[in-house]
Amino acid sequence: MAILNIVKEGDEVLRKICRPVEAITPRILQLLDDMLETLHDANGVGLAAPQVGVLRRIALVEVVDGQLYELINPEIIEREGKQNELEGCLSVPEQWGITDRPMKVTVRAMNRNGETYTVTGTGLLARAFCHEIDHLDGVLFKDNAVHMLTPEEIKENIG
Ligand code: ZN
Repeated sequence: MAILNIVKEGDEVLRKICRPVEAITPRILQLLDDMLETLHDANGVGLAAPQVGVLRRIALVEVVDGQLYELINPEIIEREGKQNELEGCLSVPEQWGITDRPMKVTVRAMNRNGETYTVTGTGLLARAFCHEIDHLDGVLFKDNAVHMLTPEEIKENIG
């Protein structure tokens, strides 16, 4: 396994549409493993392949330690409710904003064995699914943030 470099806002790789994964190859499995190590190293709750410079529809979400969702070719198939919470991104350091997200989403994706599964998440898990899947279409959380925190607000809220 290897810790990969997380690209930052301004790198055009973050603005591209990612291609679907056609087959689970050893390279894809290696990428999933490396992305997990990178996510843990960065103390994040999610990471999408374009954030490590790979334009494939792959993302990881791990909101609760050890409860990892490997999302290959993920699609949001149901949305319900609404939440406005604070969000940040490993590719947009030192910035946070309030986003407009569904309270509950159901995602259909493939796992590393090539099996299709669905998962429903609420709250933070729903936000993380939306955030990571947005990355696969070149969208960053700040694009749709209803409010980006000012430096003063960051001091108050983040410390
Ligand atoms: Zn992000």
